[in-house]
Amino acid sequence: RAKTAGLDHHAYYSESIANETHDRNRMRIALHRALAKGDQLYPVFQPQLDLLSGRVVGLEALTRWRGDNGAHVSPDRFIPVAEQTALILPIGEWILRRSISVLESLHQHGHTGLRMSVNVSSVQLRQPNFLSILDHALDGSSIRPECLELEITESVAALGINQVRTLLEAIRARGVSIAIDDFGTGFSSLSYLHRLPANRLKIDRSFIHTLEHAQSGRIAEMIVPLGHQLGMKVLAEGVETASQRDRLRALGCDEMQGYLLARPMVADDLAAWLDAYRPNAD
Ligand code: C2E
Ligand code: MG
Ligand code: MG
Ligand code: MG
Repeated sequence: RAKTAGLDHHAYYSESIANETHDRNRMRIALHRALAKGDQLYPVFQPQLDLLSGRVVGLEALTRWRGDNGAHVSPDRFIPVAEQTALILPIGEWILRRSISVLESLHQHGHTGLRMSVNVSSVQLRQPNFLSILDHALDGSSIRPECLELEITESVAALGINQVRTLLEAIRARGVSIAIDDFGTGFSSLSYLHRLPANRLKIDRSFIHTLEHAQSGRIAEMIVPLGHQLGMKVLAEGVETASQRDRLRALGCDEMQGYLLARPMVADDLAAWLDAYRPNAD
């Protein structure tokens, strides 16, 4: 009996792995089609606020996918599939170009000085021609490279410190800045972090929504001076309440992003939202 149970157990696992592979395959095919069709994938943009001046200083571009049946698929599900299948390369280049052109049009409408942050997967950074893709995207546009920021995660550590450093320095040499996303959730060491030439540290939202709690609140408190010591600006992600914002401001955190300020919105809504926004409304 025990043996049979063991076999059943095994069968159960291989079936769930098969289902998973099947789901991923289906998603890969659908994502491929979405990219070819061109209307199912679109970017949304979430404003970022300078906590000291109360001004909107940046936007983060986030990819959205509305599938065949009209339902949205979360990036937390489709980005990993895109990374595993190299579809992240065309998707990443597309969102970079789209984001630059949206920023260009906002600058032309008087919202000068706004920065655009684009998430870049380590799969993209690993392609040998990443820098020429970046150059091409910037060449075709009137925006200054200083207005563009690339968000990377601690997972770049897999590339090896020397390779990453050289690449990030080449990006910085163009004037483009670097943000380290989801900080605190990865496994990279502090010695690795301090060798990365980054401009901004983004505290992961898991440390923000519990800012009032003893343990994880402490982590956010420690990350602010850590980032500053390393010469970076610190931005808090996922700020949802005024008390979190006030606490972060008191801690000396430089910038914030989150539902309290605004949810990510489509390009068409940005200009009106920016026009209506008043610094220090409360
Ligand atoms: P991320 O880069 O850390 O982006 C921030 C995520 O937090 C976004 O989720 C955003 O909608 C969400 N968020 C912002 N403010 C709040 C808040 O106040 N509360 C809560 N609960 N959530 C908030 P989203 O758009 O679902 O994206 C999830 C992740 O997928 C991103 O995390 C990023 O890692 C990845 N991703 C999204 N678009 C792209 C892309 O174009 N390229 C790459 N490589 N990754 C992307
Ligand atoms: Mg990000
Ligand atoms: Mg993040
Ligand atoms: Mg993330």
